[in-house]
Amino acid sequence: MDDCPICLQPIDVDDIVATIDQPGESGRYHYACIGEWIKKSTNGILTHTPIDSLDVLQNQQLICKINLIIQPKEEELDDYCPDFCILF
Ligand SMILES: [Zn+2]
Repeated sequence: MDDCPICLQPIDVDDIVATIDQPGESGRYHYACIGEWIKKSTNGILTHTPIDSLDVLQNQQLICKINLIIQPKEEELDDYCPDFCILF
């Protein structure tokens, strides 16, 4: 069990979480928390360099990959699996 670096609350096993697939950006975040962050900034939380994509996971299974290079609209990011994401 680990805590979300944004809200500092524990991450439960069945929570939808996101990870940033980039060096220096380890850790898991609640999707809801990183979704809000991404609306304000697509820079990494730890490295402050631009994030290319987010991996969205549930029960440790990768369910989709969200491409941030195309700059998704805010409302699209309310859905953890927007239309343009790559499904697994
Ligand atoms: Zn959180």
